[in-house]
Amino acid sequence: MGAYAGGGEASSREEVRQVRGLVQHLLSVLRSTPTPALSRQRKKGKIGVAMVLLLPLSAHAQVSVVAAENFYGDVAQQVGGPDAAVTSILSSPDQDPHLFEASASTARSLSAARIVVFNGADYDPWMVKMLRAAKGTDRLEVEAAALAGRKPGDNPHLWYDPAIMRRVAQALAEALSAADPAHKAAFAQRLDAFDISLKPLDDRIAEIRQRHAGQAVTATEPVFGLMAAALGLAMRNERFQLAVMNGTEPRASDTAAFEADLKTHRVRALLYNLQATGPAAKRLLRLAQLQHIPTVGVTETEPAGTTYQAWMTGQLDTLDHALSLP
Ligand SMILES: [Zn+2]
Repeated sequence: MGAYAGGGEASSREEVRQVRGLVQHLLSVLRSTPTPALSRQRKKGKIGVAMVLLLPLSAHAQVSVVAAENFYGDVAQQVGGPDAAVTSILSSPDQDPHLFEASASTARSLSAARIVVFNGADYDPWMVKMLRAAKGTDRLEVEAAALAGRKPGDNPHLWYDPAIMRRVAQALAEALSAADPAHKAAFAQRLDAFDISLKPLDDRIAEIRQRHAGQAVTATEPVFGLMAAALGLAMRNERFQLAVMNGTEPRASDTAAFEADLKTHRVRALLYNLQATGPAAKRLLRLAQLQHIPTVGVTETEPAGTTYQAWMTGQLDTLDHALSLP
């Protein structure tokens, strides 16, 4: 059974309990707190509107955005600016996102969201379950996989393709504008700024591609796969990587082929996932080090205190360095 299958009776009972709690919470929120501006207008007419206009700028209601993963949360904050309050659920590079299970607190943060952004393609099935359980609200959903035309079974690490990130940012700007039409121009402006900020990353990709396209690399997990494809690298041992990602035992023949690649120096570098290193991946990492093949650690989740742009560029720099070694 893959890591995605999840399930078992205990966890489905737990899900039912969580979902019930979420729905109750959603209903109570909807009953008790209409948006302040609207209720004032309704109760006090024009005077109420005037009072709203006199509020200091910083007090204006922010659009509440919940991101399943923090790289989407980062982009939402970059596009939303001070007009959005963003909460990211997966934000620690110390845990394996493929093994994440939603808790009651996840459901609570979701219940207040006007916009939800998530990956899809079976990367965050817990989010899809919770969204299905709480339909009928005016919540807006942005799903990276749907925007990119990817489905379960495809490489789910979509944020490693900056072109997909652009589409996510665009969809977020549209959702933010629908939720808060008064700030439409600001969202459009910040979307432009985001697009421009990706230009150095695109240039870096083109530069590395020119120097290293066609070189063979391997990885213990497919996290960097879409970026490797953008760089024109020849990625090897993909079936092994999928097994590791799904928490299943790689086939003996796949492991043997991987080892042979390292022992015969058929690959120029080994990429590994700093966040998910099971015993099979660890063994190959050690073998690569023993063979003096450069190893490059990458993460699934965006490290704290950085940006999507800086995170991606930093990893590209490390890989470029590794591929440039004699
Ligand atoms: Zn992964």
